[in-house]
Amino acid sequence: MLSSNRGMRILILAAVLFFTSVPRLAAQGIPPSPASAPSHSSSAGDADALSREALVWLAQLIRIDTTNPPGNEQAAAKYIAGILEKEGIAPELLEVAPGRSAVVARLRSSAISDPARALLLVAHLDVVGAERARWSVDPFGAVMKEGYIYGRGALDDKSMLAANLAAVVALKRSNARLNRDVIFLATDDEEGGGDASIRTLITKFWNKFAAGYALNEGGEVVSKGGKVQYVAVQASEKVTVNVAVVAKGPSGHASIPTKDNAVIHLAAAVAKLGGYSTPVHFTTVVRRYFEGLAAVSDDEIAKWMRSLDSADRGEHAQRVIADANPQWGAMMHDSIAPTMLSAGVRPNVIPGEARAMLNIRLLPGDTIDVLLGALAKLVNDPQVRFEIQPNAGLAAPTSSLESDFYAVIAKVAPQEFGGAPVLPYQSTWATDSSQLRLHNVQAYGLWPFPVTDEDLTRMHGDDERLSVASFNKGIELLLHIVSEFAVTK
Ligand SMILES: [Zn+2]
Repeated sequence: MLSSNRGMRILILAAVLFFTSVPRLAAQGIPPSPASAPSHSSSAGDADALSREALVWLAQLIRIDTTNPPGNEQAAAKYIAGILEKEGIAPELLEVAPGRSAVVARLRSSAISDPARALLLVAHLDVVGAERARWSVDPFGAVMKEGYIYGRGALDDKSMLAANLAAVVALKRSNARLNRDVIFLATDDEEGGGDASIRTLITKFWNKFAAGYALNEGGEVVSKGGKVQYVAVQASEKVTVNVAVVAKGPSGHASIPTKDNAVIHLAAAVAKLGGYSTPVHFTTVVRRYFEGLAAVSDDEIAKWMRSLDSADRGEHAQRVIADANPQWGAMMHDSIAPTMLSAGVRPNVIPGEARAMLNIRLLPGDTIDVLLGALAKLVNDPQVRFEIQPNAGLAAPTSSLESDFYAVIAKVAPQEFGGAPVLPYQSTWATDSSQLRLHNVQAYGLWPFPVTDEDLTRMHGDDERLSVASFNKGIELLLHIVSEFAVTK
């Protein structure tokens, strides 16, 4: 039996098909899927037609090399603008820096829009570099192999770009009656976070995409053994601060060693910092994440998750959880990772200075000054000091777990994935969502595509890929969420 929502989506998809001619996939280098002849009478066939078009968009986007640096996102922005234009959705290129453009487009709900109600679908155009020699295929070839599309950006974040595009195209083709504006935004310089990033976009063009709600990358549909286990919706993120550790001492001839050698003092400091455990602190999001995760985990690990916060077993549980999954461990406290070392100019000279870089990830609400106070006490060395580096991440408020939009995601995702629960998620990594949250946007992170842990290790790594089945399912989920939230029934 069809629910009214399902019926509504079928209507949208049916209208999509009416206006769609199936693109010549083979000509674009994308082999047609086995079920290549879409059935005009079934909703599955309708979904196929749109997904297959979106797969072509994804492949073409992968083929446009937007490795950052330098980014060169403008070519990808223009490609997307061309698709939007063809659909009658007026795109606007926002030039952020020479050769670097974002693209924005809006589906209006009424003549006068209310930004506070608008939904922003955001994804980034740039990708991190790829070490070609370590890939089994051309990272910019969009090669299809064993049901997967391979390429830099196949997951992060060109799949989301293509899916967002599919969502606005579907709404437009179906002439859906919207109860809020739906805004498409493709950003640049997300991976660099520099002068061409969302910070600049917000400063220069905020009125073009101001919204009360946003869906961005950052959360996951976690798949295990061919089944979706849970859906993690990112509602907050840790804050990155780089801190240099600087040791100073007298320089001199290496034939006359002294105890105040800067290298020795730096090494001792780094060893202490590396072994230090910052205090555990559970945010509301993390507490709710582990509560929800316990319900879908093996009994043994679930037992420890449930006692994470308890007075008697908490500390042991924290160790068990952190050992089982270092990412879980990193969600519970500020983390410190030494990442760079430098000292010396030649083998026979004791240098006057030695430096290490710490990449610190603070829990939302924690401050670097308090942490550095504790670290200075730990190191306890007058020859060593800390220097906070510029461009630290910004602490943003957590998106509400009670908002209308979160409620829609929490309702819709289990319908798509056999009852798999939605859990709020605090990512250890940073996304553009913090910038949006600082502008009063209830921003949530969710790659809608079911992925395994193994898939995720390839993100920013070698042989990044996404299964076509996951891609299709992700588009379906995204369209379901957007329809439920923005289309008048
Ligand atoms: Zn990304």
